[in-house]
Amino acid sequence: MTTPAFDVGGSVATRHRERLQRAAAQARETGVDVMLVTPSKDYAYLLGYAAPAMERLTCLVVPADGNATLVLPRLEEPLARHELGDLADELEIVPWAETEDPIRTVQTLVGSAGRVAVQDQMWARFALALQAALDPAQLVAAGPILSSLRRVKDVDEVDRLRAAAAAADQAMLAITGERLSGRTERDVSTRVRELLLEAGHDEAGFAIVASGPNAASPHHAAGDREIEAGDAIVLDIGGFRAGYGSDTSRTAFVGEPPPDFAALYEVLRHAQSAACDAVRPGVPAAQIDRVARDIITDAGYGDAFLHRTGHGIGMETHEEPYIVSSNAEPLVAGNAFSVEPGIYIRDTWGARIEDIVVCTESGGERLNTTSTQLYLVS
Ligand code: ZN
Ligand code: ZN
Ligand code: ZN
Repeated sequence: MTTPAFDVGGSVATRHRERLQRAAAQARETGVDVMLVTPSKDYAYLLGYAAPAMERLTCLVVPADGNATLVLPRLEEPLARHELGDLADELEIVPWAETEDPIRTVQTLVGSAGRVAVQDQMWARFALALQAALDPAQLVAAGPILSSLRRVKDVDEVDRLRAAAAAADQAMLAITGERLSGRTERDVSTRVRELLLEAGHDEAGFAIVASGPNAASPHHAAGDREIEAGDAIVLDIGGFRAGYGSDTSRTAFVGEPPPDFAALYEVLRHAQSAACDAVRPGVPAAQIDRVARDIITDAGYGDAFLHRTGHGIGMETHEEPYIVSSNAEPLVAGNAFSVEPGIYIRDTWGARIEDIVVCTESGGERLNTTSTQLYLVS
């Protein structure tokens, strides 16, 4: 079982109150006076609902000290109150009417703060207007503050990731059980999206189907190529379920794989499994990349492993921590990320194996539970 990384327990309102407090504390620690969070995954993480990003400004104002205020268009207020539930009592809610200037409202709330952090995806029109209105305040990115919270998943988040992974596994098993030869990559990709939804995803995010020589391109877009005997097929699929992402890759082969492909695949399988086994708190992210890369390099495929070993996953498919040789940050319990080494031989074939792994006190827990074998298909 997973050791609770950060068990906040209690009600949804409690969980989000706690997140707001921790965001404020993190702002304080990094010398930020106030944080401005517009609709985004960060906003949903803090408040528990997704507000629309649009031309009318919605902005959560989180001071390093004191209570948060939600500035929003009057017509969005009923939705916000409904979604916030008990959390609405913790916030000051300041609706603005169609003829009012919300930048002025935010300006008043920010006051004379010297360092103001803005959400990474805030629209430029708002960021520029705020920069002018708040002059001479220094505007900085809020990304590092919010990502330091979001990269450590609590028990509820890990449960959601596990459910999303199970749904992706179900779709993967279904597609690798179908006849794939004679179908185009596009047909198979469309079928995978159907299967992702059938398995419980709310959103079928992506379905890479890379066959034959296309399998040598890690982010190949499924196209008109017809799958045939002798093809390796990289299937990389995922979506969103209850707000959290799935992302898994398996490699299939049409017919009997030739010895050189089978040998390459065994190296990859060994590298991926060793990297998963190396996960535990305190191990630098770079070390996980190194474990996989050393095995692949020692077998002579070093140049064919074209990308980092993995990426964090949560409310976004790609987020921190990144499992890359330049990232010395030590893993902590609650980190969730992909371990997905690949070997790509240009114009010939390729293979990738990808699992989502959660770092727990006692080591890595794989959320994807399908076999990492080469899937032999017809
Ligand atoms: Zn990718
Ligand atoms: Zn993937
Ligand atoms: Zn991935």
